[in-house]
This record gives sequence, C-alpha cells and structure tokens, in this order.
Amino acid sequence: MTSPLVPISPASPARPVGQSLLQIVPSTSCLQCDVCCRFPEKDSFLRPFFTGDEIRAAVAAGLAPELFPSTEGAQINLVPNPAGEGYACPAFDSGTSHCRIYEVRPLDCRLYPFALMWDAERTHVLLGWDTKCPYMREAPSSLVDQAVDAVAQWIEADERVDTLVRYPRLIGRFQDDVIPLRTLARVTERVQQGKARITRHPLRIQDRGRIEAAVALAAGFQETPLAAASFAYHYIWRHRLTYTWADLEGHLCLFAESPDGIFLALPPLGEGPIDQPTAEAFRVMRDWNGDSPVSRMDNVPEACVPALRALGYEVREKEPDYLYAAADLVDLAGEAYRSPRAACNRFMREHGGVLEPYDARDQTACVSLFREWREQKLRSGSDEWANALLDDAVGAHETALSAHTELGLTGAVVRVGGRIRAYTMGLWLNQSVFCVLLEVADRDMVGAGAFVFREFCRQALAKGACWINTMDDSGLPSLAKAKHWYHPARLLPNYVVTECRR
Ligand code: SF4
Repeated sequence: MTSPLVPISPASPARPVGQSLLQIVPSTSCLQCDVCCRFPEKDSFLRPFFTGDEIRAAVAAGLAPELFPSTEGAQINLVPNPAGEGYACPAFDSGTSHCRIYEVRPLDCRLYPFALMWDAERTHVLLGWDTKCPYMREAPSSLVDQAVDAVAQWIEADERVDTLVRYPRLIGRFQDDVIPLRTLARVTERVQQGKARITRHPLRIQDRGRIEAAVALAAGFQETPLAAASFAYHYIWRHRLTYTWADLEGHLCLFAESPDGIFLALPPLGEGPIDQPTAEAFRVMRDWNGDSPVSRMDNVPEACVPALRALGYEVREKEPDYLYAAADLVDLAGEAYRSPRAACNRFMREHGGVLEPYDARDQTACVSLFREWREQKLRSGSDEWANALLDDAVGAHETALSAHTELGLTGAVVRVGGRIRAYTMGLWLNQSVFCVLLEVADRDMVGAGAFVFREFCRQALAKGACWINTMDDSGLPSLAKAKHWYHPARLLPNYVVTECRR
C-alpha cells in the first residue's frame, strides 16, 4: 500500500512486540533509500491509508487535519516533494529522511516492506513483500522466511483483523511487483463475511458478452445510449482503473477502483427497477470506501434520473456526450460546415488520402503516430489537465489497437506516401448509433483529422448509422470547441448520482 521510513534498527527479523512490529529493514538502509514515503503521482494508490484512530493520532502528533479527505479513514493527501520530483507524504521530513509521526505511523506504514493485497482473482487476501524496496531485493531469503511467520501472526491477531474488516481498503489490489508469501485465511474469511459475501469478479475481456447483454436489457440505454454503455469504453482504461463486476439483486454492477476507492462506472445493468441494486451497490461502496465522497454512480442516463431523485439520491450533471446526425457529418453541406469541408478538400487536394481498414499489423505505426501527435499537442501548449489526459491515453490506445477484434472495435487508417498519418476506432452502441472512440491525426498535415473523421462516418452511414456519438469533451475547452465545430444535433445528458449527505 505504501512506503514508510524506518528509523530503527532491528537486531533480528520482524517479530511482534505487543502492539508494534519491529522492522526487517535496518535503518541504515532506509536512510540511504529514496523510495519510501515518496510517490510519482499526487493520487498514487500507494499513499498510506490511515484509519479514523490513526488520523486522530497523526493530527495530535502535528499533522494538519486538512491532509485527510475524511476523518473516518482515508489515504493522506500528498504534497509536492520539497527535495525532488513527484510527491511526498506530508509527514516525511526530507531533510532528515525521518517520519515526523513515526511513533504513531499507520498500520499501512508499520507493515512495509510487507504488504497486504488481494490475489488476482480477488478471492483471497495475501501477505507479500514489495519488490520496490531495494533492501528486500537483496535480502537473504532465509531472513524473509523467518520474518514472514511473525508478520502473518501479527496481522492475523484479533485487533488487526477487526481493523481490516472495518477498513478493507487497507488491503490493496493485486500488484505484479509484490511477491506473495502467505494466504491470510483468517483475514480473508472475516473480510469476506463483513462484505455479506458479495463477490466482485475482475473484469476480463471474456466478460464483454455478459456486459453487452446486461446493457441491452437496461432502461435508459436504448435509443441513443451514452458512449459509456459499451464494454470497450471502460476496458481500455484498465491500466488506470481496476474494474470488477458483481451480481447485485439480479443486476450486473460494474465497479471501478481508483486510487481513492471504488465507484459504480454505470448504473446497475439488467431488466427492471434499479432501486434495490442501487441501494446494495451503495452499501458495498460504503463498506469499502467508508464515508469518502468517492462513492458514486457514474454515467447515469437521463431516463434513470426521475426514479433516483424520487428515492432521495443526489443527482448532478457532468459533461454530456455529443451526438450528430451521421448524414450531416458525411455531407458537410452548407455554410455551417464550411470550415471542416474546406479542411477535407485541402487534405484531398494535397495528399489524396484514402481510408483503409485497420489491420493488426498497423499497430506499431499507429502507436508511434500517437506519440508524435502527443508531442505536437504538448508543443501547442495544452493545459496541465489536458496533458495528464494525454499521458493516460497512451495505454488506452495501445489496448484498443492490440485487442480491437476482441473488443468489437472497427478501425481505419489513412496513409500518405505509405505512412499512416491518421487512425481511428469506433464501435456500435446499437443498430443506429455508432460511437467514435478514439481518433489521432498528424496535426502538421492540415485536414488529416477532418478527413479521417468524415470518411469513418461515411463508412458507418453506409452500414446503417443514423447517429454518431463522439463521447464527451472531458471538460476541455479546446475539445468542446472542436466538437461544436461539427454542430451536434443533441447533447446527451450524463449524470453522477451520490447518496444524500445529511
Ligand atoms: S506516515 Fe511516516 S512512514 Fe508513513 S508514508 Fe508518511 S512519512 Fe512515511
């Protein structure tokens, strides 16, 4: 979960002493290390989690209460690293490499370099050691073997198990770089019991049919669905969010886990009223997140709103999806479309490009075009939020390009002089709505973006599309401007639903 600093030097491997756990790593190693307590991202999922009691103790020891998003258990807010790049725990003293609240540091830190996490199937809690700790990478295996029994015994003591049941977020998601050492049967059993036997299954590519069947039955996603009502929309972001699904009250609930906790990525999917599954899903989120504001239901279509408001939920609008008449985007007729039409004409005049189907062999060239395009966008001075989105988008594009067939995506490329200068991918939301999921074009080649978009829409129109959904604008003014350039026929409202906080 996190990386603590350890300014004590144990004479022997970790062993329980009353309430505390002596550390396996000698302080000399810790003081030379530049890993612990520092994090590359502000919202790193590895930042330490404090229980309610630990927050109170940390505040009494001098940390500002505002560093904790919730008083009843939360990951601490990181601060810019005063001695280098990235971010640091605010309790970390970069001058001395000491923890300012060492005596009351949270369980998450006391345990390190051991870590608690779920197995890949999310069925068992594991105790492992974190390979990010340089000392542990060199430590003799006999030392680790000797220590692990003591650590497992310490963590399976009643007091710690009760804490884990109350704060299941102390158990991290599966990480490849944490080496599993033990399955913690007692912790697993108690935490699973505490969750009323709700099993959340990891989302796999094979679940596409399951999700699509449930979406097809859900009210509100029928005529002109939101782009989020598709499997690929979520799956391509799995490098940033851990997706799981559960069957709650006969509905499929798709959860996403961010560094701050879990939320519902879509309303409960399936046939019939969603009041019961919604209540159950919020209960699951409360169990997991405590009273963190991360608990929410995203991508709720307009049709679900009256019933949810009547049930007392808070509903607020987020960025809408842009919906266009497919024929308008292909004809580009009249004064309103003069600019995109001129851009397409110029591209054809100067480069004479042709749209071709995407082939798996185009993947490397497309990824390299993405990187070129990203550099072009960065040079054009996008804001910090836009840059962060671009960084995140690399993984999404790679997943879409490599697994386009399994994800049900249609792709196309435009070549100029034998080189791919634009690519795009999309999917059918239903028989008449096609969604353009991603699009990249050489920004130094005027009209390449307009051309690939028009020709891709032409292809969709020929296959029966009446409407084209281009998703939302992520709150970016430049993206909103580009989307309005094409005169959307409608903006599809999209809502976020939370429980009322009284
Ligand atoms: S609380 Fe202390 S040990 Fe834990 S991350 Fe912060 S500085 Fe490091």
